[in-house]
Amino acid sequence: MKVAIVGAGWAGLAAAVDLTRRGAAVTLYEAGRVAGGRGRSVNIDGRTLDNGQHLLLGAYRETLALMRSVGADPDVLFERRPLQVVDRDGFRLALPCWPAPLNVAWGLLTAATVDLPEKLKTALWMHRVKWRGFRLTRDESVADWLDAAGQTGVLRQKLWEPLCLAALNTPAERASAQLFANVLRDSLGSPRRADTDLLLPRVPFGELLPEPACHWLVANGATLRFGHRVRSINDACVDDEAYDAAIVAVAPQHLGALLPEIDGRFDYEPIATVYLQFAANTRLPFPLLHLGGNTGAWAVDRGNGLFGCAISGHGDWEALSDEALAAEIEAALGLGPADWRQVIREKRATFCSRPQLARPAHITADPRLVLAGDYTWADYPATLEGAVRSGLRAARAIRAR
Ligand SMILES: Cc1cc2nc3c(=O)[nH]c(=O)nc-3n(C[C@H](O)[C@H](O)[C@H](O)COP(=O)(O)OP(=O)(O)OC[C@H]3O[C@@H](n4cnc5c(N)ncnc54)[C@H](O)[C@@H]3O)c2cc1C
Repeated sequence: MKVAIVGAGWAGLAAAVDLTRRGAAVTLYEAGRVAGGRGRSVNIDGRTLDNGQHLLLGAYRETLALMRSVGADPDVLFERRPLQVVDRDGFRLALPCWPAPLNVAWGLLTAATVDLPEKLKTALWMHRVKWRGFRLTRDESVADWLDAAGQTGVLRQKLWEPLCLAALNTPAERASAQLFANVLRDSLGSPRRADTDLLLPRVPFGELLPEPACHWLVANGATLRFGHRVRSINDACVDDEAYDAAIVAVAPQHLGALLPEIDGRFDYEPIATVYLQFAANTRLPFPLLHLGGNTGAWAVDRGNGLFGCAISGHGDWEALSDEALAAEIEAALGLGPADWRQVIREKRATFCSRPQLARPAHITADPRLVLAGDYTWADYPATLEGAVRSGLRAARAIRAR
């Protein structure tokens, strides 16, 4: 079977690898010069950086399996650490290496700067949410959900709201409580301890999946057409070349140009990443630090004195110049002036994970045409894991024909 895949982000790569492995003749079209889409490497000032600081969790099972299948070993490429949420004001919630759910219970009960009644109230609430299978009776904002649960203390400010912003790239006031609950279900609520682990990339993002996947695809007979922006898809003809089937794996903001009949209209949230280079021996107390402050940034220690600091969601920070934003993050880190600074802004980093957000189905009116992409994986906010799962599902739908 001859299959075209449009878009070599993590969704398109997952679909391409799966279909190639099962004997399809795959052609992968990509508008950019490299694979990876919103999770790729970029070269700036002679350095290879990520287009934005990403974080992965042990719960990203399909992503990790896909990496392994193309010869990229997650045990080598990531530093795996039990989850800790640490900030500059002394808050610390650290999960021990114990079986779930003891690890989460212990982490909560030993959280610094939180009093015992609040810990117990939160433990009871989490137990109730888990008992209901993380299914809410109605979707509302995370802020309303936390209000209704009486989660108004330190843990809301230091744990739930920062986690919501980091995971959904949408602030608690606008974010979907059901999507946040789904993320909690598969991480803190998972019966598998390893699902709660933080995976911190040791290498530039392209080396995690995009580059190994492309090498694997070429070695296994797939055709890569990079630097080719597809203009039209009609009857499984991609820019007038005929295929048996096609998978459209572009970001939702690019869907309208190809398939205007599908409602892919979303609001978007930005992410800025401020890279700061200090002396090579400069380290953070824990490789992930919540800086909070005006930007709500998270700093990730990339080793050798390089820190990637991610600022998520719309906010006042967008009005700052790159210099002013870098200066603000530098001050929040408190390590003195950096030797080198770089700001990368992604204006439409992810769709806004609002409550009751309508998401297009992956199947279309034409059985030869299937959609993939983070926005089609309705169980999750915009994540790499959602993108990979959507790509595998699209490949399955094509195979099922
Ligand atoms: C700065 C930043 C930080 C993030 N942090 C995290 C994180 O910590 N954890 C996490 O899980 N997720 C994170 N995300 C989200 C994650 O990166 C995305 O959910 C995921 O990469 C989406 O993959 P995708 O394949 O669905 O879409 P995309 O990556 O957008 O891929 C679509 C591809 O299609 C190509 N394309 C578009 N139109 C055409 C056309 N007409 N012809 C050919 N090619 C076309 C594009 O060039 C692109 O390469 C972050 C995103 C950003 C931007």
